[in-house]
Amino acid sequence: MAMRRWMAGATAVALLAGCGSPATKPLFTADPRLPAPETAGFDPAGLGDDYFPTAGNGGYDVSSYDLNLRYDPATGRLDGTAAITATTARDLTAFHLDLHGLTVTRADVDGTAATTGHDGDELVVTPATPLTTGQTFVTTIGYGGTPSPIEDRRFGSGGFFRTRDGAVAMGEPASASTWFPVNDHPRDKAHYTIEVTVPDGLAAISNGVPAGTSSKGGWTGWRWEVTAPMAPYLAMLAIGKYRVTTGEHDGRPLVTAVADTVRGDDAQQALARTPEITDFLAQWFGPYPFDAYGGVVVDDERIDEALETQTRPIYPASTFRRGPDTVTVAHELAHQWFGDSVSLTRWRDIWLNEGFATYAEWMWQEHEGDGTVRERFDRLYRHDDSRIWSVPPGDPGRGGLFSDSVYQRGAMTLHALREQVGDDTFFAILRTWATAHRDGNATTGDFTNLAEKLAGRPLGGFFDAWLYQTGRPAM
Ligand SMILES: [Zn+2]
Repeated sequence: MAMRRWMAGATAVALLAGCGSPATKPLFTADPRLPAPETAGFDPAGLGDDYFPTAGNGGYDVSSYDLNLRYDPATGRLDGTAAITATTARDLTAFHLDLHGLTVTRADVDGTAATTGHDGDELVVTPATPLTTGQTFVTTIGYGGTPSPIEDRRFGSGGFFRTRDGAVAMGEPASASTWFPVNDHPRDKAHYTIEVTVPDGLAAISNGVPAGTSSKGGWTGWRWEVTAPMAPYLAMLAIGKYRVTTGEHDGRPLVTAVADTVRGDDAQQALARTPEITDFLAQWFGPYPFDAYGGVVVDDERIDEALETQTRPIYPASTFRRGPDTVTVAHELAHQWFGDSVSLTRWRDIWLNEGFATYAEWMWQEHEGDGTVRERFDRLYRHDDSRIWSVPPGDPGRGGLFSDSVYQRGAMTLHALREQVGDDTFFAILRTWATAHRDGNATTGDFTNLAEKLAGRPLGGFFDAWLYQTGRPAM
C-alpha cells in the first residue's frame, strides 16, 4: 500500500530506550517474541496471527479458488459460486471460511451436500462425512447478496465498494471475504481462476493473465487466471467503464485500465511506464516474479490509497492528479517482489513489505534524478524528534501497521544495512531473499538470518536497534 503521506500514523507510546550495542547482543537467530505458528495451537476460526487472531482459519490449506461471479451494477447484487480446493492438516468434522455480509445458498463437499452456519464473518461448513488428515477436498459454495466493505476504525474501509457504474474490490489487511468465501490470511496463498459476468459494455478487470471474454444475452464474462500463488488480500476486481489497454512485455500480457471518468492522459502515461519501471527494479531484485503485468486506475473518492494487488496494482485517480507520478507506480511494482511473491507469515512483519517498497521508491527517484537514496536517508535521520523513532518498525502494533515508521524507518533499516555490508552484499541479500522465498511466505527472522549468512557476521545488535527498539539507532 502506498504511504498515507500526510496522515499521522503512529499510535505507539514513546519509550525512549537506549540503542542496541552490536558488540554485546547475541546473534539474531530468530525472533523470540512470538511462538512459532505450529505451536500456537489449533483454532478453526483463526490462524494465530498475533495482530489479527481471527484472520484466516486453521486446519486446512487452500490450493485453488475457482470463482464464478455475476455482478449487476443496477442493483448492486453479486451472485457467485466458489469452488475451493484444499487439503486438511488434521481430522476435521467442520471447517471455517471467512465471508462478510453475503448469504450462502448452497454448499457441498466433494459433491455431497454440506450444512453451513454463520457466526459473524465466520462461515462454518460441516461436511456429511468428516475429513481426515491429509485429505484433499473440493468445497463448492453458492452465495450472493449486496456486498459491502469491512469498516475498520483504524484502517478505514476495505473490500467491495459499489461505484457509480460498477464496483471496486480491494483492501489491506482484509478485503477478499467481502466478495468470496476465503481463508483470509496471507499465509494461505493459492491459485485463482476468476470469471466475472457483467452487462455488455462494462469491463471486469481482475488479477493475472486474461483468459478471454464470452458474451451471451446482454452479459459478458471476463476470465482471469492467476497461476502463481496469491495472498487473498491481493485479489482485486474493477468493474465499470474503463479505457482498457492490452499489450505485451517480455512475452507476458500487459493489461492496464483507466476509469473513463479520469480526465487527461497523465494516468495512462504513468501506467505506460510499468514495463520500464519493472525492468529497472528487476536489475536490482532479480527477475519479475509473475506472468502478467498491468495496473488499474479507479475513480471513487472513498478509494484514496494505491494497493499492490498482484500483477495489477490499483491506483486511485488522485495519484495522478498533479501529473504522471511514477513514484507510487514504482512502490506498488516493488511490492510484486516484496509482499506479493514473498509474502508475510504474520502481519507484524509488515516492514518486509512497506520498508522494501519505500526503499524501491527512493531508488527509482534517484534513477529519475530526484535526489539520492542517501540524501533521503540523511534527511530522515536528522529528525531526532520524529515519530519514526518512537515506533519500532519490526513490531509497530496492530494500530501502527501503516505508520510512517514501517515505511520510512523500514526503508532506512535497509539503507543502514547497505552501509554496513556494502552494495554487492546488500543487493545479493535482496535478490536471494526474492528468489529463496518466491511464491512463499517469510518472517523478519528469515530475513535477518539470510543477511547474517551473506554478510558472514552477526548483525543481531544492528537489527535489534533498527527494528525493535525505540529511539534513533547510532550510525
Ligand atoms: Zn506499500
